[in-house]
Amino acid sequence: MSRLDELLEFNEKFVEGQEYEAFKTSKFPDKKMVILTCMDTRLTELLPKALNLKNGDAKIIKNAGAIVSHPFGSIMRSLIVAVYDLGAEEVFVIGHHGCGMGSINAENTLQKMRDRGISEDTIQTLGHAGIDLNKWLARIDSIPESVRTSVEMIHQHPLIPNDVPIHGLVIDPETGKLDHVISI
Ligand code: ZN
Repeated sequence: MSRLDELLEFNEKFVEGQEYEAFKTSKFPDKKMVILTCMDTRLTELLPKALNLKNGDAKIIKNAGAIVSHPFGSIMRSLIVAVYDLGAEEVFVIGHHGCGMGSINAENTLQKMRDRGISEDTIQTLGHAGIDLNKWLARIDSIPESVRTSVEMIHQHPLIPNDVPIHGLVIDPETGKLDHVISI
């Protein structure tokens, strides 16, 4: 059975059995907070449990590394929508120890692309168009520093109001222990 079939079969039973009842909530975060964290699989359930968050408590935005890499990219837009339209009053950036973005190697990733059929021409063309793939795929040298940078970027954003506290933390993906890095 394919992954999709498996998923659809399970889903049918889930809905039929009204298992969704346990998760009913609204789109507005009950704890009035928005979290930016990493897509790491170890955090999927651990992070909400370790922070005492249940369905409906917080807006959770995820990407590789919990990074705000562009002031007008989709992460920043999501934060702004959470603050202005969804009632989030505080922002939490939560990176984690052992992040995959801390060991990524741009040159290796580019080689994997070539191996999978992406042409050198395409890579060159993007470079000529001003897209620096080495920078785009750059390793995060220090997770706490990266969290700090993202917190400062959110705080200094021209569209984020000054009365929104921004916190930066690092979570242990094994134990769920949080270390506080910065609050602005
Ligand atoms: Zn990560």
